[in-house]
Amino acid sequence: MRSWSIPVGRLFGIEIRVHWTFAFLLAFLLIVATQDTTPALRVLGLFGILFGSVVVHELGHALVARGSGIPAKGIILLPIGGITILDEAHAIPDPINGWRRDIRIAAAGPLVNLFIAGLFALVLLVAVPGISLTAKPLLQSSALLRSIVWANLYLGLFNLLPAYPMDGGRVLRAFFSRRVDPVRATHRAVRIGHVFSILMIMVGMLLSSRAETRWDGYWLMMIGFFLFAGAQLEERSAVFQSVLQSVRLEEVMLTDFATLSPADTLEDAIEKAVHTLQDDFPVVRGSDMVGVVSRQKLLEALRSEGNGYVQAVMNRIFEVAAKQESLASAFRKLSARNLSIIPIVDDQHLVGIVTLQNLMHSMSLLAESRKLRRETLDA
Ligand SMILES: [Zn+2]
Repeated sequence: MRSWSIPVGRLFGIEIRVHWTFAFLLAFLLIVATQDTTPALRVLGLFGILFGSVVVHELGHALVARGSGIPAKGIILLPIGGITILDEAHAIPDPINGWRRDIRIAAAGPLVNLFIAGLFALVLLVAVPGISLTAKPLLQSSALLRSIVWANLYLGLFNLLPAYPMDGGRVLRAFFSRRVDPVRATHRAVRIGHVFSILMIMVGMLLSSRAETRWDGYWLMMIGFFLFAGAQLEERSAVFQSVLQSVRLEEVMLTDFATLSPADTLEDAIEKAVHTLQDDFPVVRGSDMVGVVSRQKLLEALRSEGNGYVQAVMNRIFEVAAKQESLASAFRKLSARNLSIIPIVDDQHLVGIVTLQNLMHSMSLLAESRKLRRETLDA
């Protein structure tokens, strides 16, 4: 997703990126403009209104998420509403009331748009005597002020449709996920989303064949198209998230690993490290974990200070995890202290390790195998 977008700035500390499909929207508007004699500046004005509506929508999600303890990594803007990328790994897990939080975050975007539409409609009615908010066309570059109201109203209402990945669909999925597993809930919501988007395209085609509803038809077709593509992207990230949350560390930890003793010399330690692919080692005295050290650190110490003991170079600050903990929890621990290894203990005994390197590998494998399993189930 990130690789298909360019950064355009920051708002409230949140990085804003624009997806390349925004270029489609601009091209679409310019092509439409050539059919009548609309000045290019007005077309850009309409583009700015759509862009701004999407930005405030996503900021609604991002700020409410941050307020509920989930930092937002950034916002990627798409013509139908964009995507707020939340840093789930840093979220405080809340299995009991998590769904309420999801609903609050999902509803915030559309509510911001509806609020702006309402407020702006009032302001226009008071400030511009004789303006008609319901004159046709509702949303066009020839009527920019009216377009602000309708762009926000459309964006708010469409996103409230109960079709994933739109916010209404997320609200629905949050209710589902209280009983069904998250991937299955998402998959069902995505399918409903696909049905909705195909319906939108079909209704859009019907409307566009009649002169008086041509514009509504074009808009509906375009939104249906983006919605269809969006559902696909969302499902992939849902699978990824569920892998993070549902896989327990005992399923991915390395059980065949080398350990070092604090009394090992650096040369001994490197000799041991030669015989394994491991980059990070637990340091164990008897049956007690006393530290962690990386191959890199061993080499650097040996190079700069000559031969010494592992005890002197090992990192004494480390976190242990229980084998029942989730991958998400391991990621939180790794990134919170910038670690690259977590020893897994069971009943005070070291039973395995997870390293950043091995987590990346197992996650892509797990995501792939789950997808295959689900495709077999659906067939
Ligand atoms: Zn939204």
